[in-house]
Amino acid sequence: MAAASCFGAVAAAAEAKQAADVFEAVRKADLDLGRIGWKLATANAALCDRLEPGLGFQLHTLDQFDDSSRDAARKHFGFASAVAVEGIFPGSPAERAGLHVDDSLLHVGNVDIAAIAGKSGTTQRLVATQLAIAALPQGQPIEIQALRAGEMVKVVVQPLPACRSRFELRIARDYNASADGTMVQISARFLDTYSEEQVAAAVAHEFSHNILHHRERLEARGVDFGLLSGFGANVKYFRETELRADLLSVYLLANAGYPPGASIAFWRSFGPSKAGGIFRSRSHPHWRDRVATLEGEIARMEKLSVRPVIPVWLGERDQPLTGEWQALIVRHR
Ligand SMILES: [Zn+2]
Repeated sequence: MAAASCFGAVAAAAEAKQAADVFEAVRKADLDLGRIGWKLATANAALCDRLEPGLGFQLHTLDQFDDSSRDAARKHFGFASAVAVEGIFPGSPAERAGLHVDDSLLHVGNVDIAAIAGKSGTTQRLVATQLAIAALPQGQPIEIQALRAGEMVKVVVQPLPACRSRFELRIARDYNASADGTMVQISARFLDTYSEEQVAAAVAHEFSHNILHHRERLEARGVDFGLLSGFGANVKYFRETELRADLLSVYLLANAGYPPGASIAFWRSFGPSKAGGIFRSRSHPHWRDRVATLEGEIARMEKLSVRPVIPVWLGERDQPLTGEWQALIVRHR
């Protein structure tokens, strides 16, 4: 063999190995977030008024990969349809039913995967698939048809009730977490930096915004989500929702088996460098006051022995926002 082609083969193998490592690193990060979301969404179903059938798997699609990596991704993961099982959460209904990682989906209940469209290079098809599955009837077995190593397999999953929400990893080097009413998004940087329970605390805060319908209730108050969010009458409503999300987060953590104090540990670590000083948002309370407020709610919660533990004030989500954030905050001294 000529030296040039020998080097060529080595270089190609090294490139393939590198691509495989990147694919698996992204899969791991997706599943780390997915598992946290799965625990929070199923352990807190009693606190949610919008549910979905919880199957306990993470999906991915070929479209998510850009043109340069799509063929390599198809090969690496063995995509035989447009949507495949990226991972399965331990002890989940999907695992019990015998679904496997890298099964390519054909049908989930009456959702025909081939009929769901999406634009190349986007998550449109993933989101549409997740929303269609979330809309399937509650409390009924769901038959899944999939392709596994070229063979058709059928499994029947008995779903668990789960709070209706998507959890999305943002591949970015910044620290960003957000909730839009139906989705919790968090940047991968959090997973690199914080322990699972501290990431769970950040996710639980964002998830709380959705469980408490904050987006809709802020919109009903006509607040400005843009540059003016830190000014005028907007401030009191944002502060109310921030504090309420903090307060609910400790219940979500406790029900999911995480130490509720992880929220305090998270703020003590994240607050001074990222949420203090000149970067402090006027719409958000100071992190030291958030810690004091969390401590107060954990002490109140720990007096309740019923599980799942449900805050007595949960029903306020059906009322308009009051803007009375001063009544919720405990000041740091
Ligand atoms: Zn928030």
